[in-house]
Amino acid sequence: MPEPATFPEGARVGVLTTEPLGRILDYLAPETGCTLGDFVEVPLGPRRVMGVVWGPGEGSFDRAKLRPVTRVLDVPPMREELRVFLSRAADYTLTPLDAMLRVATRSPGLGEAPGLRRVFRRGFQTPTRMTPMRMTEARERVLAVLDDYGGAAFQLGELAALAGVTTSVVKGLVKTGAVIEEEAPRDLPYPTLDPDRPGKALAPDQETAAEALRATARSGRYGTTLLKGVTGSGKTEVYLEAVAECLARGRQALVLLPEIALTADFLTRVEARFGAQPGEWHSGVTQTERRRLWRMAGEGGVGLVVGARSALFLPYRDLGLIVVDEEHDTSYKQEDGVLYNARDMAVLRAAGCDAQVVLASATPSLETWVNAQSGKYARLDLTTRFGEAQMPEMRAIDMRSETLAPGRWVGPTLQTAIAERMERGEQSLLFLNRRGYAPVTVCRACGHQIGCDHCDARMVEHRFQKRLVCHQCGETKPIPTACPSCGVEGRLAPVGPGVERLAEEVAETFPNARIAVLSSDLFGSARALKARIAEIGRGEADIIIGTQLVAKGHNFPLLTLVGVIDADLGLQGSDLRAAERTFQLMRQVSGRAGRSERRGVAMLQTWQPDHPVIRAILSGDEEAFWREEAAQRQAAGVPPFGRLAGVILSSPDVQAVFDLGADLARRTGPLTAIGAQVFGPAPAPIARVRGRHRVRLLVKAPRGVALQAALAAWVAQVRLPANLRIAIDIDPQSFY
Ligand code: ADP
Ligand code: ZN
Repeated sequence: MPEPATFPEGARVGVLTTEPLGRILDYLAPETGCTLGDFVEVPLGPRRVMGVVWGPGEGSFDRAKLRPVTRVLDVPPMREELRVFLSRAADYTLTPLDAMLRVATRSPGLGEAPGLRRVFRRGFQTPTRMTPMRMTEARERVLAVLDDYGGAAFQLGELAALAGVTTSVVKGLVKTGAVIEEEAPRDLPYPTLDPDRPGKALAPDQETAAEALRATARSGRYGTTLLKGVTGSGKTEVYLEAVAECLARGRQALVLLPEIALTADFLTRVEARFGAQPGEWHSGVTQTERRRLWRMAGEGGVGLVVGARSALFLPYRDLGLIVVDEEHDTSYKQEDGVLYNARDMAVLRAAGCDAQVVLASATPSLETWVNAQSGKYARLDLTTRFGEAQMPEMRAIDMRSETLAPGRWVGPTLQTAIAERMERGEQSLLFLNRRGYAPVTVCRACGHQIGCDHCDARMVEHRFQKRLVCHQCGETKPIPTACPSCGVEGRLAPVGPGVERLAEEVAETFPNARIAVLSSDLFGSARALKARIAEIGRGEADIIIGTQLVAKGHNFPLLTLVGVIDADLGLQGSDLRAAERTFQLMRQVSGRAGRSERRGVAMLQTWQPDHPVIRAILSGDEEAFWREEAAQRQAAGVPPFGRLAGVILSSPDVQAVFDLGADLARRTGPLTAIGAQVFGPAPAPIARVRGRHRVRLLVKAPRGVALQAALAAWVAQVRLPANLRIAIDIDPQSFY
């Protein structure tokens, strides 16, 4: 590795700041000099902002007017590998580089010197003495936050902010002893994980896969492997062996999980395997811990990090392995201020730092499946479930021959199956991918459907919260008694089922059942959700009713029946990935049944038992499904055989968005030059969100062309009127 360039005092340096300026600014190196990649603080107008020394200065700006760098932060400089990665990621996603830097430095107090810090945590007195003399609502909120994060230490400001109280409330609690204040050393390295501790004895197919992954880790080069195996086949145990090999070689490893709720179980397994817990990085971790992890990643004081997708942007000293668990999961692609797909970015980062990528899934994305078919990725298969567990039997329930009263959703066949499970002390899971009580509230007098004031979306009734909620913008309002359109009282009625309504029906049908509803909006915190999931795992529920939250990796040993209330739900809609999504989701959910020695059964209520996707799910012939789906996409020239970019224009001014859309559609020169086609402008499927009108254009290009550059040249031709935003989504996952 070449020595980083050193800039002596007064040399011109180019600094990339975290401010949205769209360019690199020149400064003079400070008294101490600085090196490429140094994290620095620089003056910008009256303020001081953070930045990174990105290269030598440009030289065009009058030297006499240049200001010196204020100070160099006491953290390791950003390595070339990360700088290159951020640039490539910015180019790929058409994101300004400063926005990428913000993602990579989302950790408070980076510049503070290490030393002692004051922290606040829950007091350890006996429960009676722990309750302060005078309990107020504000004090209760502070204690609730401390309990939610179970034992974590906070700095004063963060604790007060999370609880929504003033700092004096926290200090008042210190006097009562319910909260203790102490000096703690900050930013200590994480305990070392011991890769030499024996792991579980692996089954033969697990051992074959583990050995293949160890070999890739030993190569010290980049490579990507698809690790495919049904839920419960022991993929986690296998990739932990790749982690062990990586740690044994003195390199760092990162495991990405799609859902915070899954981390608790994973932490336990890591501790069992390696004797200590890894570093955790996600929104449920305190800022103090995040800063520690950010620093330790750079100093090599953490061996394994488990986290959400933004953990990809930590300044690792030597990253040797990235595991993307449930690689097909849609939550890897979400708006973070920056639109990126964590799976693709993992491959990009690994390629630049000689790391291996493991993509683990029971139901890989079509992109990954195709990459494995073509040999771009290696592929390892685990074909059986670990131990006694077998894949569940799959059955369709033809809804055309079931009798159901209106407003009821669980057919007689499914009811009988649930009753049998209850008699045997086994659990049933009913899956319905719809939060809330009812998706539509309609007036029986005039037919009006209650919609959101800011979006073209219907309000969803949430009966637990006693409110109507817009799932687009989050706006809520009380459930009215009279119709907002015709004013008639008492005729508003819910239409269609959500999980809450399903729970009501099930409680009537099975009055003695213990029912658990798992839906992301019903839990105040990730910790509360984890606790509930653990209870259910111990058997403290007979019937579990859940949204797609339950599809992801939780282990319920007593669960032997999965009932899918509406298997056709995802097949509607015109989304490119509708079939793929339905197939994955149904397989995932069905995989919940019979994970231990009892064989499970999955029953799919459907009105279209002959639909090709439903047939593929039932037959279990996955490869046939993928081949068919791939052939259709290839014929249509869509991903992964062609490229797509979604362009959404939005503005409060409806005329302005359509005008701009039409203007762009007339000037497609840069795009036609690369053989791309432009579709639209058309109103986006959700034509108004948060009061902004939305118009969509879709760009379809052949593979292997410079799509990003052409898109940039295309939109650069138009001037954006005030208040008009343009968002470009490369490889869009959905089209809302
Ligand atoms: P997957 O990640 O493919 O869903 P897991 O790795 O979670 O599968 O394994 C499913 C269950 O089987 C877990 O409870 C795990 O502890 C257990 N298991 C897997 N492999 C072994 C093994 N070799 N020895 C003992 N238990 C195992
Ligand atoms: Zn809304």
